[in-house]
Amino acid sequence: MTSVELKFFSLEQSKIMKIKASKDIDQYVAELLSNFAYQIDEVEHRISIEPLQKNTSELREKLEHFVDRHKDRAPQINQLTSFVRNLKDGEYFYIFPNVQLETIQIAELGNRLHALNQGLDLEIIQDDFSSIFGDLLSNYDMLAFNGESRVNIGVTDKSKAKCRFCGKSSPNVSFRKKAHAISEALGNKGIVCNEECDTCNAKFGAGIETDLIAFLSMHRAFFGIKGKGSGAPKLKGRNFSIKKAETGEVHFSVIGEDDGLPEQVEAHTNEKVALQNIYRAMCKYVLSVIPEESLASFKTCVSWINQENSNKRLPAIRMKIVKELYSEFPGLSIYIRKNSDTELPHVVGEFRFASIVIVFIVPCSDKDNHCFVNDHDFDKFWRISHFSKHKSHSKWVTMKLDSDEKKVLSFNVKFEQRV
Ligand SMILES: [Zn+2]
Repeated sequence: MTSVELKFFSLEQSKIMKIKASKDIDQYVAELLSNFAYQIDEVEHRISIEPLQKNTSELREKLEHFVDRHKDRAPQINQLTSFVRNLKDGEYFYIFPNVQLETIQIAELGNRLHALNQGLDLEIIQDDFSSIFGDLLSNYDMLAFNGESRVNIGVTDKSKAKCRFCGKSSPNVSFRKKAHAISEALGNKGIVCNEECDTCNAKFGAGIETDLIAFLSMHRAFFGIKGKGSGAPKLKGRNFSIKKAETGEVHFSVIGEDDGLPEQVEAHTNEKVALQNIYRAMCKYVLSVIPEESLASFKTCVSWINQENSNKRLPAIRMKIVKELYSEFPGLSIYIRKNSDTELPHVVGEFRFASIVIVFIVPCSDKDNHCFVNDHDFDKFWRISHFSKHKSHSKWVTMKLDSDEKKVLSFNVKFEQRV
């Protein structure tokens, strides 16, 4: 069976369409592509498609006819109609058949689309982009995941799956359950890891992931982020409760404070949390989505995630609240070093939840010579990254998550009066 992969992307959407056919695939794909702008090479008798396309009423009409004719035998082409329908009239987008694009190229193409759609000067946009991302992306490959989109990581045939966390395969372990790469309770709908067995899934779900979820519980309740159930989460602690009403208002009540709200409250939850488990859970997310070839360097890290040992000295994590980045779906970006400069960490994760951004080094890679526990070592990465260049009012907070002891989780809540 032959297959052709077409990548469609605009500023706001991206779609990958796989077309499989036993025969006449060339003719079928040629017919599909002939709907778009193309060039004919008269010497070679070949049609090549222009990657840059514009959404016009003529194109929409042609595509609808094409989809109508073929949707019965290839239902996946319906995606095409929805992709085009979501574009504005006259909006530019790209199509690439059978190509692997590097992150930097995708980002560059995104800039071009932005410039074209806005009628902006392409060169200025490009300069801006290089000064922000240039150093980082010349050292790192970047992969980005968003809990809203559907992605299955790892082998599709589960009978051939080997668990990324215990190394076992079927029939010694089963792979029946859907293993969410990022906890479902944090709003992840679609990022699923096919290479996490039911045993590890249950263990993480009842273990390290609960520590991270508790750590984020205040934000979860504040923004009313829905997890598995349909209702908005409510957080009730020892001396407070918080809930977001349907109207969007947040109700925060403090027990034992009758004279209105104090300026500051030490809000004690009912949860006991080991800070190191928060770190473990975020690294578990990264290793659930990391490409197979990089996973091999993290054997020591996997046993640490499995709580087979405790790590006395971990790198500090850096955390910040960026209101503009708010999303009801969690996001995860991973940066994988592509050169042998061991002054820089092998893998760095960026986890986003509501408006929180957490940047952390995935520890104990075989490809690291340093353990990056000193801020000074972390700074080398920081300086070349876009994180240090981020213009926002709030500051990065450095946090140590070294403690591996379960303690009652408390938040320091400050109230400000708005005039
Ligand atoms: Zn397992």
